[in-house]
This record gives sequence, structure tokens and C-alpha cells, in this order.
Amino acid sequence: MGYYDQHMHTYFSPDSAESFENYLEQTDGLLVTTEHLDFHDAYNGGVDTVLNYAAYSEKIAALNALHDGRIRRGIEVGYTPESHDQIISYLEGKAFDVILLSVHQNGRYDYLQPIIDELDPKAVMQEYFELCAEAVRQVDGANVFAHFDYGIRRLPVTVDDLREFEPALKGLLAEILAKDMALELNTRSMYEYKNSDLYRYMVGLYLEMGGSRFSLGSDAHSIQKYRYHFDDAIALLRELGVTGLTLFKDGIAYTEKI
Ligand SMILES: [Zn+2]
Ligand SMILES: [Zn+2]
Repeated sequence: MGYYDQHMHTYFSPDSAESFENYLEQTDGLLVTTEHLDFHDAYNGGVDTVLNYAAYSEKIAALNALHDGRIRRGIEVGYTPESHDQIISYLEGKAFDVILLSVHQNGRYDYLQPIIDELDPKAVMQEYFELCAEAVRQVDGANVFAHFDYGIRRLPVTVDDLREFEPALKGLLAEILAKDMALELNTRSMYEYKNSDLYRYMVGLYLEMGGSRFSLGSDAHSIQKYRYHFDDAIALLRELGVTGLTLFKDGIAYTEKI
């Protein structure tokens, strides 16, 4: 079993206090952390959440010297149209094994903030899925599209609601395919926010369109969620005929069997 959890955070993200050392104790195999980059972070009072790349790289290099190079470097880029130029210039000249691309906010509020409950759900979905497609179109070099349901986690969305947005979702998946990115199955979305039906539908669409790259990530912010419900997500993928997961080293994709 060569695949590993491809979406995790440590104290290098402002919303996590977890240590690399604790994650290292969970496995003898590889690890990657994918720390936040969110400019004008609505969830964090509007300040810029910027990964300290030098400190992050230094910490991982020190641990890798002691732990057989088991830790890979990753980042989760939160896109907004307004932060496009800052994102591009931040990534310039920096090396990551994997870059996740996310949409967490629309420049005014994060999609997990309570204001969402007061808005028209269909309008939120429309805006969010458009931003997702734009993110993939505008950012080159990202490897994984993370939690496609982030913007609708607070909404009571059913598969039928998603079907109404099938053209928009297919548009997003076409952009993901065009960039050779992997589609993430975010297991906290699936089993904590209970959106596994939505994932089953989205994975089905992606397969229909010829997609074959899947990434599995818990989005753990502490070791309690490390590989959260991986067995369930793997079972779902197998049921849909998927036989492998896509991992990234130095931004290069390879497959591990499930
Ligand atoms: Zn995220
Ligand atoms: Zn995350």
C-alpha cells in the first residue's frame, strides 16, 4: 500500500496546532503536509495567511535527515480572483511535491462562515462553482483540485440539486482534465460533512468524461483525522471501478494501486 494521505495540515497552517512528529508516529511510510496559502483570508480576519516557506522547508529537511526522507512538501493554495497575482508570485521559485488548489472564499467571506446560511443556496452554488473553474483555469502548476464541495458544506445540497449544476460541474471537470490535475476525495467532506453522495455523483461525472486521476485526503488538522475514513472512500472508488490513486513527488504524478 504505497498511497498516503495527500491533504494534511500542521502548525504551519494557522488553523492547526499539530506537529510533524505526531504525524510521523502514525506511520512508517511517507507523509505530506499541505499548508494553507490564503491571501486576505476571510476566515482569519482578513489577514494574509502565508506559509513561511523557508521555515517549513528547513523543518522538513531537519526531520527528513532523521526519518529517512519520509516527509514531502505541499501547499494548499486558496484562490480568489483578487489574489491571483500574489499567488503566482508566491509560488515562483518555490519547490513543492504537491500543490492543492482550493476555493475557500469569494474575497468577502469564507464559504464556511454563518453568512452563507442567509443567502440563496442556488446563488451560492452558482458563484462557487464558477470560482472553482476560474481557479483551475488561472493557476498553472497545481496538481490536485481539493474539496469540490467546500462552498456547499453549509448548505443542504442533494444530488438532485447538484444535477441542476451539471453543466457548471462538467465545465470545472473539463478544466481539471485539461490541466492533468487529480480530483480530490476529501474524506472529511464525505464523512464528517456527510457529502459522500455528492462525491459519488461527481466521481461518476469525472469518470464519464475520461478522468482517471484521484487523490485521497483527510484534510486533517490533527492526528485524530489522519487517514479519516480512508477505507470507506477506497471502497467507494473500487465500487466505481477505480483501481489506483495519483500521488505527486516533485510535482510529477504517479499511481499507487488501491
Ligand atoms: Zn481547504
Ligand atoms: Zn486543507
